[in-house]
Amino acid sequence: MRFVFAFAPLLLSACVFGGDDAPAPRPAPIRERPSGPVTLNGPTPLATQQCFTDLAKADVRYSGLPDRDFGGGCVVTGAVQLLDIGVPVTGLKSMRCELARTFTAWVRYAVAPAAMQILGSELVRVETYGTYSCRGIVGGGPATAGKMSEHGMANAVDVSGFVLKDGRRITIERGWRSEDPATRRFLKTLHNSACRRFKTVLSPDYNAAHYNHLHLDMGRGPFCA
Ligand SMILES: [Zn+2]
Repeated sequence: MRFVFAFAPLLLSACVFGGDDAPAPRPAPIRERPSGPVTLNGPTPLATQQCFTDLAKADVRYSGLPDRDFGGGCVVTGAVQLLDIGVPVTGLKSMRCELARTFTAWVRYAVAPAAMQILGSELVRVETYGTYSCRGIVGGGPATAGKMSEHGMANAVDVSGFVLKDGRRITIERGWRSEDPATRRFLKTLHNSACRRFKTVLSPDYNAAHYNHLHLDMGRGPFCA
């Protein structure tokens, strides 16, 4: 298996775009170890091995990533870098395998068919604000204050938009409350499907921090908002 070392030292893109961090209060800072990540050499659990097999069987091209402890509680195990799931996806870094498997199925069997059926055009790109980011949860109130985001374990992806073959670009930010009923129905359909597949789904209806993306994770749940 080929290993890809594709980690930026500190991924702040989610802060730039809003991510989970958009409005105050800001989280207690969670910092990666300045000296860099430590590679872990534990055994690969059977469920993770099965997940790798499932990805390969589904004709997904990916690279396995080493298990790593980045410090600050940010530990990533059983992760992959998706290379080709059939539809180009921007912004993906490391994802835990179960997240990658669920995301791939959602794009293929929910997003792509909905684009064709509801908007009458082929899905040609999915845009994201990324996956792994060592940070705490923001905007969730006292219950989540100081808790590590699922992004810190590469167990979450923030999806921001969809591009169709006819040139349309449907973003969560502009499309969620669009005046066009088909656009709204397309995004609601994707949201409903995501809630059946992922453990936690957060939309612009959840809080102001999610005004411009769908947060999809495989942590605790089910929680659909
Ligand atoms: Zn998120």
